[in-house]
Amino acid sequence: MKIRKGDQVMIVSGKDKGKQGRVERVIPSDDKVVVAGLNTVTRHLRPRAGVRQAGRVQQEAPLDASNVRLMCTGCNRPVRTRSHNLEDGTKVRICQRCQETIDWSRSNP
Ligand SMILES: [Zn+2]
Repeated sequence: MKIRKGDQVMIVSGKDKGKQGRVERVIPSDDKVVVAGLNTVTRHLRPRAGVRQAGRVQQEAPLDASNVRLMCTGCNRPVRTRSHNLEDGTKVRICQRCQETIDWSRSNP
């Protein structure tokens, strides 16, 4: 997975194309990500016992990881990245556009 929790990403396909958000959850087994506040679907919940909020509820649907791009902190645009192992073994992502290192830890404090 190139996308990690906490990453700032842009959606590049679908109804929220062009919107930016922060990754709230990744689902590596399905290669999907959930972006906070984006790709929402309206679910209609029937009022019944155990359901706190009945009616129309906005919920984020998982997106294909291939439909989001990491926002580069260097060139401030959605980019493709390649991974690179530092000498100390730390794995980092590098912007293929400006070669800026996009550290995991910077987006995942
Ligand atoms: Zn860049």
